[in-house]
Amino acid sequence: MAKHPTNSRRQFLKTTAAASVGAATLGSAPRVVGARTPASIKRANGPVVISSRNGMNAVERAMEVLQSGADALDAVVAGVNLVEEDPNDTSVGYGGLPNADGVVQLDAAVMHGPTARAGSVACIEQIKYPSKVAKLVLERTDHVNLVGKGAQEFAIMHGFPLENLLTERARERWVRWRENLSNRDDYLPPHEADDDSIGADYIEQQRTWGTIHCSAIDLSGNISSVTTTSGLAFKIPGRVGDSPIIGAGLYCDNEVGAAGSTGRGEANLENCASFLIVERMRAGDSPEQACLFACERIADHTRKAYLLNDKGEPDFNVKFYALNAAGEVGGAEIRGGNSQFAAANADGSFLVDMAYLYKRD
Ligand code: ASP
Repeated sequence: MAKHPTNSRRQFLKTTAAASVGAATLGSAPRVVGARTPASIKRANGPVVISSRNGMNAVERAMEVLQSGADALDAVVAGVNLVEEDPNDTSVGYGGLPNADGVVQLDAAVMHGPTARAGSVACIEQIKYPSKVAKLVLERTDHVNLVGKGAQEFAIMHGFPLENLLTERARERWVRWRENLSNRDDYLPPHEADDDSIGADYIEQQRTWGTIHCSAIDLSGNISSVTTTSGLAFKIPGRVGDSPIIGAGLYCDNEVGAAGSTGRGEANLENCASFLIVERMRAGDSPEQACLFACERIADHTRKAYLLNDKGEPDFNVKFYALNAAGEVGGAEIRGGNSQFAAANADGSFLVDMAYLYKRD
């Protein structure tokens, strides 16, 4: 992809980055155990990658790709592909938890800072790497978002195979959810023949969220982002979360920085929070301050009683991850206290503490 013309600051990034690559190639870069504060990994030169906590391997992979001189978008997509193909991550790609009908429907989006373009897919089925398809939407169409059957046909047109994405582990969790959903339907959880109280001990099944967001600055100082997910577990078929929506699940501006999100997508959709974070950074906020601002905005706008706890605070979580064009990183969540996000630079990969609005109980 064409490089964005460099201004003097970017030229500085490029020059100093080249020096740091010689000093520390990723092969020798350590993975740091134990969380760091955002300020402690502040870095004014060289490539930087951030991702959600489940992306430690992804940031390391993305950093390797960046060190070879690749564009930031190629790097972040290569990073999240590791998570999309990992059957053990039940929130993304292959192995992701299915919708209420037992079908895995995936959402993904990409943004390329230097060309200010975006691509995304929503509710795509049987395609293991939705982030790659989102990138092709950006590169090979005049559109931004393709959904459902159309997104799948576009992927097939570009040579993607149809694959069964429902692992045994995910299928079993879906069946358990379905059998325990109601004691007034005909699905029964395991029971003894003489059990006369089937369904009486109705169990609230955990509706899990999970996603990977990844943003990076490359050797030229250009910024790109990706977010990819299987979305809310057991969602209504056809539900689109925040991840494939530009401005919600991610946003990137080459002159300012990038932001992305995981957690309750509906709250993020109603507040365009990733766009908000980038605009707050443009106005001078640090990445962490901007992420906290988005958490506050969501808290202010959460008015549905069933989403509030007895103190009037949101009873759900949304997490934000951001980096600015100077290479500073930060993250914040609505409800936290002991959470981290993943980051990497030429010195290695790190877990970084997230700020929070309310302490987790
Ligand atoms: N934000 C995603 C969605 O709402 C899910 C998540 O990140 O947990 O689809």
